[in-house]
Amino acid sequence: MSDNCLFCKIIAGEIPSQKVWEDAYCYAFRDINPQAPVHVLIVPKRHVTGLNDTGALPDQELSACLHAARQIAAQEGVGESGYRLLSNCGPHACQSVQHLHFHLLGGKQLSERMD
Ligand code: AMP
Repeated sequence: MSDNCLFCKIIAGEIPSQKVWEDAYCYAFRDINPQAPVHVLIVPKRHVTGLNDTGALPDQELSACLHAARQIAAQEGVGESGYRLLSNCGPHACQSVQHLHFHLLGGKQLSERMD
């Protein structure tokens, strides 16, 4: 856990969240400002700042987030209709929380554009 990290505090239960998934390595909850009918944030429990820091995350813990995404998509009813999984890294991508997280977006037709 990193002091003053919003997502570490959510994982620890110090800040409330709408949990949709939890396993040994990752935690997932609804985005407070959803950009699609389904907008879930999937975060590793271990604090790493983002995609540039995944060398500090054991492979098993990184892959756990991806396996969780597949299962959350099914749980949320978008596994077949489709969904997008993305992670913003750094200022040009508008990363606002410095704890690695994956946005899972679905439940509507998403734009072909990624920007
Ligand atoms: P990013 O801009 O890629 O770093 O994504 C951070 C996301 O965290 C944004 O989509 C925010 O809406 C979301 N967020 C910020 N605070 C909270 C919170 N307390 N609970 C749930 N989601 C949050």
